[in-house]
This record gives sequence, structure tokens and C-alpha cells, in this order.
Amino acid sequence: MAKLWDNIKAQIRYLAALDPVDGQKIEEWGKLLAGQLYARRDKFDLRQVLAETGIREPWERRAIEAAYGLLIERVWKDQKVTAGERSALDWSARMLNLRPDDAARLELQTGLQVFGKCLADAMDGGEIAPEDKIRLSIIAGDLNASVPLLMGQFFASQGGAFLRGMFVNFAENHQFNDAALGKVLDAVGFLGLGKNAFLSAIRLQAMQTAEEYLASAKADENLSPEEEKTILWMLDNFGFDAEHRKYFEDEIVDMKSLMAVRDGKLPTISARDVELDSGELAHYQGPASYIDAKRKKTGEGNAKRGRLTITDSRIIFASVDGSHQLKHSKVLEIQSDHSNAFKVMASGRGGGIYVLDRVPRMAAAIYTFAVRRVKRTAHEKYEGLPSRHISRDVRQRVFQRYGGRCAECGASQYLEHDHIIPVEKGGSNSDQNVQLLCRKCNLKKRNLI
Ligand SMILES: [Zn+2]
Repeated sequence: MAKLWDNIKAQIRYLAALDPVDGQKIEEWGKLLAGQLYARRDKFDLRQVLAETGIREPWERRAIEAAYGLLIERVWKDQKVTAGERSALDWSARMLNLRPDDAARLELQTGLQVFGKCLADAMDGGEIAPEDKIRLSIIAGDLNASVPLLMGQFFASQGGAFLRGMFVNFAENHQFNDAALGKVLDAVGFLGLGKNAFLSAIRLQAMQTAEEYLASAKADENLSPEEEKTILWMLDNFGFDAEHRKYFEDEIVDMKSLMAVRDGKLPTISARDVELDSGELAHYQGPASYIDAKRKKTGEGNAKRGRLTITDSRIIFASVDGSHQLKHSKVLEIQSDHSNAFKVMASGRGGGIYVLDRVPRMAAAIYTFAVRRVKRTAHEKYEGLPSRHISRDVRQRVFQRYGGRCAECGASQYLEHDHIIPVEKGGSNSDQNVQLLCRKCNLKKRNLI
């Protein structure tokens, strides 16, 4: 268990270290302001000090809050607040021109950190000692709150770090047993937070952690058995509602089908409204648009709406505006960047851009493999392109930077790591060039490029 809490603390530190440049600057300014407040006492003039130190918008507010945070930390260091310290804090808040609710919010933030650290230390041995319980209630009392309430808030705000720490631990020890969770439940239960209250406090963070695993697997185009097990374990243990359960289960099925295709196992489906030759197998069928490559050059290339069928020997595009087929043997090259569109270069008719409406990655992968099987060659252009691989570190930082939300619309599901400047156009795999987009916004963006 000691290891578990080391991991949790490491994760909290890791998250706190995000945005290091800004964070460092703000911290320095905060120190400067707090120092001036102490040195000048009642002669402290906020406007004047800000002007002298050169702290301006947009940093002012954050520097002031950092200064107040430092003062709170000093007061909270011994994990209790005396009457004298209380009035000193109130005075500081006034001098720093902080509204009472802002001051209270900042104090709760710091208090929660102190509380969380104390909680982690108390749980280090896996069991909570009675004296730890008393220590925690003193902190809670100073914050005008109860221990269960603060624990709820701690897990709701730091639950992500808590869960990640737990899974780092699981991964290291290969123990996906429920015993560790059971111990945590016992410990928080002893402090008055029941199982259901704990689970509901941490549920959102659990969903975000599961989504992070999923997005990470998508970036790798590989869902490891451990990742799958972790996500399923979370579904079983954190009381996800039916809708979220289904979402995660469907996404896992989708990932695994995609991986099966990558391994050359193409699905067989019954295609409707197309006439197949005897023995011909259909692998995919779905709504799509088609843009004729030659017509596009002359500017008259409007997209045709229709239905795309991929078989083991050809694609068939059926549309009221004119249908066509293209044999796999005529395909010279398929360009696919794993978006919902792929471009086909072919000798003869049927070359052009196909834009899929649904399960796009799957269709492109199926098509690529069906063609490869017929031609026994690998012509996909992307194989020769620079690597699109985003390292695990970058993925984790990017996910945290966007708070597990789509950069465009704020959605928290179907998240994908997107290269802001595509790799094909010289974009890198570093933090600065990777953002978090939901599938919908990603598709929208790619259609514009
Ligand atoms: Zn979005």
C-alpha cells in the first residue's frame, strides 16, 4: 500500500508540474508580492507594488492569488489555524484586494491539499490510525467542513491522480484484484465516507481516466490486454451508468475490430442492393461521398452521395447520380491518414476521394487490406511518411492540458489526439503540435484541410 500512495503522490506532483513555464513565473511573482506585503505591512499599496514589480494583466490576478496561496500555506503548515493567524489572513486578503469568496475559495484549495497530503500519509499503511482520524478532523474543523465532505471534495478534484496512481501500481504489480480497492474503501469508510459516496465522488474522474486510456489506445492504434482489462475493471467497479458503459464497450469492440483488420482478418457482411459475383465476399458497406479525381481538377467535381461497398475484389459506389466500380487490381495507390477520407489513385475509372460517413478508420483499413491481398503489395503512401507516433508522455500531458475535453466543443467522449499541423505537412509529434479533439470535430477539421 505504501507503494500505492507513492504513486498517487507522484501523479499529483506530475499534474501540478504541468505548464511549468507559466507556473514558475506566477510562483515567483506570488513570492514577490507576499514578501512586499510582509515588509511594508500597513503601508502596502497593491497598485503601487504591482507597478513597481512590473506585474501586469493577464498575470495580475493569478500573481495575487499565488501570493495569498503562499500566505495560506504558511498558516496551514502546522495543519491548524489559530485565531491570530485567522485575523492575519483576513487582513492580507483585504490588502491584496481579494473578495471574501475568492479568499475562501483559495483557502479551501490549499486546505484540501493539506488535507489530501495528510490523508495520503494516514493511508500509507493501508489502515487509518485513530490519531490520524483526529488530525484530519482538526483540519476539517478549520475549514468549516466535515471529514467526509472534504474527502468527497478531495476525490472529486484529485481523484484522477488518485486513480492513475492506483493503476500505475496495478500495472507494476500485475494485480488487478479488487483487494487494493477494497482496502481503500475500508480506509475511507473508517473516516466516514461510505462506498457509494466515494464512488460517486470519484466517478467523473474514473470516466475521464477510462477515456484517457481509450484515447491513448487509439493514438497507438493498439489496445493492449492490460488497457482493456483496466477499462472493463473500471466499468465494473465505479458504477458507470448504462449509457457510459455502452459507450466504452462499443469503443472497445470498435478498436478490436480495427486491430483484427490490421492483422488481416476482414469481416464478412451481407451487403444489400448490390449484385455480387458467385463466391465474392462483402467486407464493408456504408453511406459515403465520392469526388472524382479528374473532375476535381477541372473544378466541376461536386461530391456525389451514395453507398460504398467493399468486397474482396472491388469497391462498388452506388449513387442516383451515377454508379461505378473499381477493381482492386486497378488500384495504384491508396492514401489514407486514418481520417474519414481516403484517396485512391487508379488506372481507369473510379479513382478519386471517398469520404465515409461512418466507422471511417475501419473502412479505410478494410479497403487497404482487401487491395493488398489482391495485389500482394503494400502501396499505401503513408508507410513512407514520417512517423505519426505520439509518445505516451506527450499523450498524457496533452490529455491533462485539455482537461480531458475536446479543444473545439468541449466534448468528453470519442477523444482523439490530433496533430494541429498534419505530419504530412511537416507537423511534429511534440506537445505544441498535439491537441485533443473529439471524433466529430476531428472529422470536421480534416474535411477543411
Ligand atoms: Zn469536439
